[in-house]
Amino acid sequence: MKSMLPPVRRDRIIAQLPECFTPDAALHTKDGFHSQVMAACQGLKKVTVGFNIAKVIVVGDVAVGKTCLISRFCKDTFDKNYKATIGVDFEMERFEVLGVPFSLQLWDTAGQERFKCIASTYYRGAQAIILVFDLSSVGSLDNARQWLEEAMKENDPSSVLLFLVGTKKDLSSPDQLAHMEQEAIKLSEEIRAEYWAVSAKSGEGIRDFFFRVASLTFEANVLAELENSGCRKVGDIIRLTESTKEQQKPPKSKATCC
Ligand code: GDP
Repeated sequence: MKSMLPPVRRDRIIAQLPECFTPDAALHTKDGFHSQVMAACQGLKKVTVGFNIAKVIVVGDVAVGKTCLISRFCKDTFDKNYKATIGVDFEMERFEVLGVPFSLQLWDTAGQERFKCIASTYYRGAQAIILVFDLSSVGSLDNARQWLEEAMKENDPSSVLLFLVGTKKDLSSPDQLAHMEQEAIKLSEEIRAEYWAVSAKSGEGIRDFFFRVASLTFEANVLAELENSGCRKVGDIIRLTESTKEQQKPPKSKATCC
C-alpha cells in the first residue's frame, strides 16, 4: 500500500545516531544505533512499513521556554505569539530513521501549567518526557523534579526516556552556565535523564537535541517491539498491530483542565 503522506523533509533524515550533549549525563554513549535495531531496519527497508509514532511531552514551569523550544524546531521561528496561535494539542514532526518513517508527537502544555493543573490525558502514554528549565533560573531547575513526579503518575518509569533541557543559553554568562550545568548534570544522573543546554532564540543545540530525542525514542521503540514480538519476523517489527495503534492514538477530545 502506498503512503498518502508527502515524503519526509530531507533535513529530517537520520542515518546515524546523533551524539549526546555531554557523556556525563547521557542516556547512552554508544557510537551508533543498537546492532539489533540496525539489523531490523535493514530488513524493513525491503517491506512496506506503516508508520510509528512516539508521544513526547514537554513540561516545566511557566515561561521557561517550552513553546519556544518546540516552535524553533518545528517552524524555525522564535515567536512570542506562537502559543496563542498554536490551537492544537501537539505538533507532529516527521523523520526517517535508518530508512524507516517515524514521527514525534510533541505535546505542548499550551499554558495549562499556569494553573498547576494539567489534564492527565496530557501526560498519559508518553514515550519521552522533556523536562524544561531556564538556565538563568535556579528555581526552575529545582521544580523539574516535581514536574517529573507529576508526569510519572501517568507513565511507566521503565519505558519512558527522560531528557532534562536547560533553555535560554544565550542569556547566561559562561560562569553562570558552568554552575547551572553542574547542578543540572547532578540531577540528570539522579533521575537518569539526558542533559542538554539550548537556546531557542539563537537556535543553538535545538536541531541536535530533537534529532537525539527522535533517535533514542525510535531505538527504544524498535527494541521494545523486538522484545514483545518474540518470534515475529524481523521484517514486521515496526508494523503496528491494531492494539498498539489504539494505545498510541491521541485522545479524541482536546485536553482540558481538571
Ligand atoms: P513557556 O511558558 O514555557 O512555554 O515559555 P515560552 O516559550 O512562552 O517563553 C517564555 C519567554 O521566554 C518568552 O518571552 C520567550 O521569548 C522567552 N524565551 C524562550 N526561549 C528563549 C531563549 O532561548 N532565549 C531567550 N533569550 N528568551 C527565550
